[in-house]
Amino acid sequence: MEEVLSSSLYTQQVKKLYKVGELLGLDNETLETLSQPERVIQVKIQIRGSDGKIKTFIGWRSQHNSALGPYKGGVRYHPNVTQDEVIALSMIMTWKNSLLLLPYGGGKGGIRIDPKKLTREEIEQLSRKYIQALYKYLGSDLDVPAPDVNTDSQTMAWYLDEYIKITGKVDFAVFTGKPVELGGISVRLYSTGLGVATIAKEASEKYIGGIEGKRVIIQGFGNVGYYTAKYLAQMGAKIIGISDSKGGVIYNDGIDVEKAFEIKQKTGSVINYPEGKKVTNDELLISDCDILIPAALENVISKFNAPKVKAKIIVEGANGPLTADADEIMRQRGIIVVPDILANAGGVVGSYVEWANNKMGQIIDDEEAKKLIITRMTNAFNTLYDYHKRKLEDQDLRTAAMALSVDRVVSSMKARGLL
Ligand code: NAD
Repeated sequence: MEEVLSSSLYTQQVKKLYKVGELLGLDNETLETLSQPERVIQVKIQIRGSDGKIKTFIGWRSQHNSALGPYKGGVRYHPNVTQDEVIALSMIMTWKNSLLLLPYGGGKGGIRIDPKKLTREEIEQLSRKYIQALYKYLGSDLDVPAPDVNTDSQTMAWYLDEYIKITGKVDFAVFTGKPVELGGISVRLYSTGLGVATIAKEASEKYIGGIEGKRVIIQGFGNVGYYTAKYLAQMGAKIIGISDSKGGVIYNDGIDVEKAFEIKQKTGSVINYPEGKKVTNDELLISDCDILIPAALENVISKFNAPKVKAKIIVEGANGPLTADADEIMRQRGIIVVPDILANAGGVVGSYVEWANNKMGQIIDDEEAKKLIITRMTNAFNTLYDYHKRKLEDQDLRTAAMALSVDRVVSSMKARGLL
């Protein structure tokens, strides 16, 4: 496991696990077991490029833990993917799925590749070869992949088609995030943003007296940022700040989210919003507001800007937007941070609804799917809030969230005689 231990994301995850293990009174043997994936499959993928030459790539699927159900997690195509990163991400999926009470363990896949350098035909070939190499380890009751960075519903359609051809099993529930014609649900498009908005509303009710009229700043106006803004505005919040990679805008009278969306579509950026004041992303993060939602990149709040953040609540729409130092500063300053493994889990809840719908013969409609996502997210928040108050009030919400999910995984492993 030496290669694995050299990974910083993996090392950070193991460190967090040991910290939580200490709070839960878990022994070293249990923590050692939880820090290792159950299985990691490495595959060599050869395709014939459009120039006629053979191209070789390396890919992985990490199946971290199946105590709570089949492995579940996305597949990313990225030039920096490593085995250790895939393992760490599969571990995070175990905690996320457990926290949301989904009937899944944690998995993650990746191919080390820059998709911008391949043609669409080459990407299709690559995707099909990935499934040819892995199909024995996948299944709706075994391991259920989904889209992640640089993969989408088309990738899932190729995966599904290849899986059906090889196995002869017409099982649409093996992959989620599929096109609607192949059993996907349209709700999946906005389920992460809807989930972030639901969590922000619940957190406001618990900590700052409700969402009505609360001033919200959102960094990032892509899939997560836009839908979060849309649903929060519908819930009665006032969106006063938004941004994208080009910069942001602050308008204290309240930004019209649909107008901002149209302007971004037409001009390429929200900085062309006509009212308010233009700001940099750095300024946006430390502007006055009640709720701050980083929904773009990781590590944007660090020890340098954390002391200047004015929000009372931070909801992590993006994965890992706060560094460990920033977390500690927020804890000391009494600023509530709702962690990513809860806040942005609406996507995997959406995937769960799709999977369940495929298994039941497509009986859930869009309205029901939306309701299910809101209910699951609300219940998960309230369970965490109570657990935090009852058991770990001196710790931050992130630690409590991880403790709650690790505790569930450990209990199920004990019940099965695995510990
Ligand atoms: P996206 O590509 O749709 O949007 C990203 C947004 O961030 C864009 O508006 C982009 O302009 C902006 N951005 C890029 N660089 C920036 C910078 N330097 N400063 C400010 N803004 C910048 O991506 P997304 O799907 O919305 O994902 C955003 C984050 O949420 C990522 O961390 C992702 O891992 C996480 N996430 C996404 C989902 C999902 O279902 N889409 C689920 C869970 C977590």
